[in-house]
Amino acid sequence: MSISLVLFDLDNTLIDRQSSLDSWVRHFSTVRELPEPSARIISDILRARAHPQDFVRVKLTLGLSDSVESLWRSYVSGMAQQVRCYDGVLGGLRSLKADGWSIGIATNGAPDIQYAKLDGAGLSELVDGVCASGEVGRRKPDRTVFEMAARRCGARLADGGWMVGDNPSTDMEGGRAAGLRTLWVYGEQQWPEGVESPDVAVPDAQAAVGHLVQWGRTRSPQLSGAM
Ligand SMILES: [Mg+2]
Repeated sequence: MSISLVLFDLDNTLIDRQSSLDSWVRHFSTVRELPEPSARIISDILRARAHPQDFVRVKLTLGLSDSVESLWRSYVSGMAQQVRCYDGVLGGLRSLKADGWSIGIATNGAPDIQYAKLDGAGLSELVDGVCASGEVGRRKPDRTVFEMAARRCGARLADGGWMVGDNPSTDMEGGRAAGLRTLWVYGEQQWPEGVESPDVAVPDAQAAVGHLVQWGRTRSPQLSGAM
């Protein structure tokens, strides 16, 4: 029996997607010897999210001769090489795991890129279950994504748990509606007006994991010897 379930968002919560994307775009543009504005154009197209169909736009806008499929594949493998977790994430997740938490990932995105990033960032062996929205045909805040992530951890939303993420709507409102406590990683954001506050707000992923470790150890005093 685990102490509790925690589901994490992936992009810009555990991993720095923006920096990884910028690195990949720079690398791609340099290797391909693309003209000056290309990197900015690709970044703009892929900034919010990246799906195979976004590479139709990349291909047409830049006049590339590659197939959309091969551009997508080079994006997936390139991002897997560039991606890194924020400081403290891997060590923090190991502590949670040692304390008996079930750790899941509930992420919006196509499964091939999301799983490639999990592998590249060293997260795959630390998590018990993953649901990428593309696998279930629904995106957060839809409950289905949280439900499937919990199920793949061998847990049930009905038993409660935590949702950790950077997005007030998809992660925090979605997590609350799924019956989870909410832990917001705010970075440089302000909480939007008119949205019910998260249960806990912390500046970064390291602080989020630290909060969970303490919370779990307070609830299960036998673990405090591990502190
Ligand atoms: Mg995110």
